[in-house]
Amino acid sequence: MTAADFLDYRLRPLNPSGKPRGDGRYVLYWMQQHRRLAYHHGLQHAVYRARQHRLPLLIFEALRVDYPHAADRHHAFCIHGMLEHRRALAPGPVGYYPYVEDRPGAGKGLLAALSRQAAEVITDEVPCFIVPGHNRALGRIAAEQGLRATAVDSCGLLPIHLLEKPCPTAAVFRRHVHRHMVTALASSPKANPLTGTPLAPFSWECLGPIPQRWPSADAWLDHFSQQPEAALAQLPIDHGVPLVPGRGGRRCGLGELRDFLRHRLKDYGERRSDPAQPVASGLSPYLHWGQLSAYEILRAVWEAEQPWDPGLLPEKGGARLGFWPLSESAQSFLDELITWRELGHHTGALRPEAYDRYDSLPEWALKSLAAHAGDPRPHCYTLEQLEAAQTHDEIWNASMRQLRSEGMIHNYLRMLWGKKILEWSPDPETAYQRAIHLNNKWSLDGRNANSWSGVLWCFGRYDRPWFEREIFGSIRYMSSDSTRRKFRMQSYLQTYGGIQ
Ligand SMILES: Cc1cc2nc3c(=O)[nH]c(=O)nc-3n(C[C@H](O)[C@H](O)[C@H](O)COP(=O)(O)OP(=O)(O)OC[C@H]3O[C@@H](n4cnc5c(N)ncnc54)[C@H](O)[C@@H]3O)c2cc1C
Repeated sequence: MTAADFLDYRLRPLNPSGKPRGDGRYVLYWMQQHRRLAYHHGLQHAVYRARQHRLPLLIFEALRVDYPHAADRHHAFCIHGMLEHRRALAPGPVGYYPYVEDRPGAGKGLLAALSRQAAEVITDEVPCFIVPGHNRALGRIAAEQGLRATAVDSCGLLPIHLLEKPCPTAAVFRRHVHRHMVTALASSPKANPLTGTPLAPFSWECLGPIPQRWPSADAWLDHFSQQPEAALAQLPIDHGVPLVPGRGGRRCGLGELRDFLRHRLKDYGERRSDPAQPVASGLSPYLHWGQLSAYEILRAVWEAEQPWDPGLLPEKGGARLGFWPLSESAQSFLDELITWRELGHHTGALRPEAYDRYDSLPEWALKSLAAHAGDPRPHCYTLEQLEAAQTHDEIWNASMRQLRSEGMIHNYLRMLWGKKILEWSPDPETAYQRAIHLNNKWSLDGRNANSWSGVLWCFGRYDRPWFEREIFGSIRYMSSDSTRRKFRMQSYLQTYGGIQ
């Protein structure tokens, strides 16, 4: 396979018989999830098509109010990025149409109206959450208009439609990752797709009455930049999940990346699991909202240790360590960023009907959990008790408080957190629904392919059978006592108020 084949794998026609509109006034790029202007296959493709048509490019970036778990926290994270885009694109020539719904359904009809003036439409390919439904809707709009519409995958290093079969474990997926990495890197996105031959300038006049009917979010964004909470209070979203100050937007993500490379990467291999001295990158929310790309993070990690040279990659890989010509710490980090993260996206793409379902667990896990579903539960909590961090377990309560206040849980404790929900719920399927609900409601990186991967991992996905025990059956067990023995939990418990 060549780099050109890889680029083809990234494009998916949403209306296979559609043609470019001869009298289209611009190429429309609908930015849904890969919300950045750099290292972006989709934006790069949109620019390429605009140049081919000799037309302007219009970037349409919208935010609904009715996506599941819409809340101040998630909205604010995303809107910081929209403010940056508005600033960056203000000088032109690219048009930028930010749209923030103020009531459910307010934006209905806007995409169809914008498409009616477009020569063709490009959007993001994402295998999970609301994007597949959006893309089906865009396919229908394009079919009605006989228009070409293409979804472009900018999710990660490997195109999500590359493999034909889902991988049961990370070990199997890792072999694919290593085998295809040289080709993947040869087809990597440009740092700045908007530079080069200037595009034709976009003019708002060509939109006719559209902005009157669906006003751009400009005034609301101004309000948000002055008084974020007051601006968010105007929207019908969950104000009980408050924003996390200081997070959100590409600038902030790049700052976190720099900080990670300078201060924490060197210890990542040894201390990744230790809650007492957190060394993880904290980048997953930026990856989730597409504000950073996995490719640029890989490159930054590599260049933090030595000059970029993919020619150094070995022909054979397959093991967790030994493939990347970098320190053990950097290799461990890249294994999470690439193998584990992209495994979740591939599972979503290859199992679109099942990636988010409890019954998608491997057969051994389903059987074992069913056999133990009736086991007595010495501790059984309601969803409300869990959400309020009111259990007998101070480590768990502290993790839940961290999730509520910071929108993240330390990565080791996140596994323990999920396992305990299984242990303390009336049955495994209820436990799964609760874990997904809490994760997606409170996590800055929630509602992502890896939300389902991570939660279902706690129930046996990508794992193997372990020793049989009560409630868990042969699902891997984790306990707060062994966490306490392994790590000094004092400072974590002090920070998150877990000491009782
Ligand atoms: C119960 C549970 C729920 C989870 N929910 C989510 C979620 O909603 N969204 C999400 O992105 N991840 C989720 N994960 C995976 C993982 O916990 C987070 O990706 C990680 O903790 C994010 O922190 P970080 O960016 O500091 O990670 P780092 O340790 O710095 O890792 C770098 C990047 O690698 C990726 N990564 C790391 N660990 C994993 C993993 N186990 N699986 C997949 N990708 C990984 C992430 O993109 C992360 O940003 C979940 C895991 C569990 C056990």
